[in-house]
Amino acid sequence: MTEIEVVRKKIKNMYLRVREDGSLLVTCGRYTAQKDILRFVSSREEWIIKAQLRMQKHESVNREGVNGPVVYWLGEKKYAVYVQAKRDSCTVDGDIITFYLKEETAERIQKAFRKAANDKLMSLINEYRGEWDRKICEAAGLQIPEINMRYMTGRWGVNHIGKNYITMSTRLIHYPVEALEYVLLHEYVHFLVPDHSRRFYSTVRHFMPEYKAYEKLLKQEVL
Ligand SMILES: [Zn+2]
Repeated sequence: MTEIEVVRKKIKNMYLRVREDGSLLVTCGRYTAQKDILRFVSSREEWIIKAQLRMQKHESVNREGVNGPVVYWLGEKKYAVYVQAKRDSCTVDGDIITFYLKEETAERIQKAFRKAANDKLMSLINEYRGEWDRKICEAAGLQIPEINMRYMTGRWGVNHIGKNYITMSTRLIHYPVEALEYVLLHEYVHFLVPDHSRRFYSTVRHFMPEYKAYEKLLKQEVL
C-alpha cells in the first residue's frame, strides 16, 4: 500500500502529488472527510501508478548502483552485484555490473562507478574522435583538443572555447552510445561555430545527418 500524507490548508479543492520516492501527498481543505480523500485517491489510481513508474525509471537512470539493483549502462539495464574485495573497482559483464568494494558504502560505490564509467566513455571517445580531429580540427587548421570527463548534471558536454579542451559528462554512461557520439560531435562543431545558430546545426547535420534522433535519446528518462 502506498503511503499517503495529508496536508490540510484553507483551500477548496483537493490536490494530489506523487513524490520522488513514490509516496503520495494530498493537499485538501481543513474539514475534508477521510473517506472523501480515499475516494479521491482511488479515482486517480491509474494516474498514480503511471507517475510512480515514471519516478522509478527516473531514479534508475541516476542510480549508479547506490540506491538500488538496477543501473543503466550505455542504455542497457544492468543488475548490480556487490562483492567484498581488497580494492574498490567496478566491472561490467553481460547484464551484470559488479562492484568490488572494501566496504559497501554509497560513497565507495559511486566512486567506483564513476571511475569505470569515465574509463569506458574515454575509450569510446578515443575510437570516435579521430574522425573529428581530422575532418573538423585539422581541416580548419585548428589544434587537436584535449578531452576530459567530469560528472556534470547540467550539461552533457562543454567546449571551453579558447582553451582548446572539451569536457564530457560522466552521466552519458547511462545513455545509448549514439548519444555520446552526438555530444562529442556537438562539442567539436563548437570549434567552428561557438553559438547554437542555424549555421551550427546545419554543420552538425552535415557531419551527422541523423543527429536529431541521437539528440532525442538524451531527453528520454527511460532508456
Ligand atoms: Zn552547444
